[in-house]
Amino acid sequence: MRQHWVIGNWKMNGGLAANQTLLAGVRAAAGPAAPVRLGVCAPFPYLLQCQQALDGSGVVWGAQDLSAEIGGAFTGEVCGAMLTDFDCGIVIVGHSERRLYHGESEVRVAEKALRAVENGIRPVFCIGETQDQHDAGETEAVLARQLMPLFALLNETRLAMVIVAYEPVWAIGTGKTPTPEDAQAVHRFIRARLADHSAALAEALPVIYGGSVKSGNAASLFAQPDIDGGLIGGASLDAGEFLAIAKAA
Ligand code: 13P
Repeated sequence: MRQHWVIGNWKMNGGLAANQTLLAGVRAAAGPAAPVRLGVCAPFPYLLQCQQALDGSGVVWGAQDLSAEIGGAFTGEVCGAMLTDFDCGIVIVGHSERRLYHGESEVRVAEKALRAVENGIRPVFCIGETQDQHDAGETEAVLARQLMPLFALLNETRLAMVIVAYEPVWAIGTGKTPTPEDAQAVHRFIRARLADHSAALAEALPVIYGGSVKSGNAASLFAQPDIDGGLIGGASLDAGEFLAIAKAA
């Protein structure tokens, strides 16, 4: 069976004191033998805190972005090698908030995924259509286009490190979700695109769902055969809610 993942994306939330409570809650409830892998993606300044709080717990931590550059004169950027200094195991790339507010192109996002893999960090590669694209019936075309540079830049060994996150932009922070059946159909489409590349890859890669996942809807989404867990925004800021979601995966 494919590895299931439940990953919290804290976005630009938190602070030292609140994080400490949250991380202690996640750590206390997450046994090292848990069948579902748990991950936490924190703002850069808190990666050391995550490392200290989660080391040895089995919970993986990481950042929400990294630079497509290797290092040097890029003010404000953080490169993959810096993330390895804090033992990051995962990093989100191409979140729709980065694509939208920071103009990250499809090629740039794939370059970031490559930088992550080169540093031994698993990229959580986000793809998803906007409401307008959804309404226009363009979902599959958009997803195929967003995946294409990933296939162009990463060979099969590197692709094996990727976790794909399908996040319909219209479902993020809105309380709206696709029906489990509709989400499953999209995940199956994504897996078929992976299979075009390699059948083994399609079988092995986790494809997780993100967008308004809560403890109340997680089980029905995660029960779908091609949905291998979730990328959780708002609900990951409460340890009890986050762990209830993880139990559903
Ligand atoms: P919400 O769970 O708050 O809708 O956010 C989803 C998301 O963007 C996770 O990356």
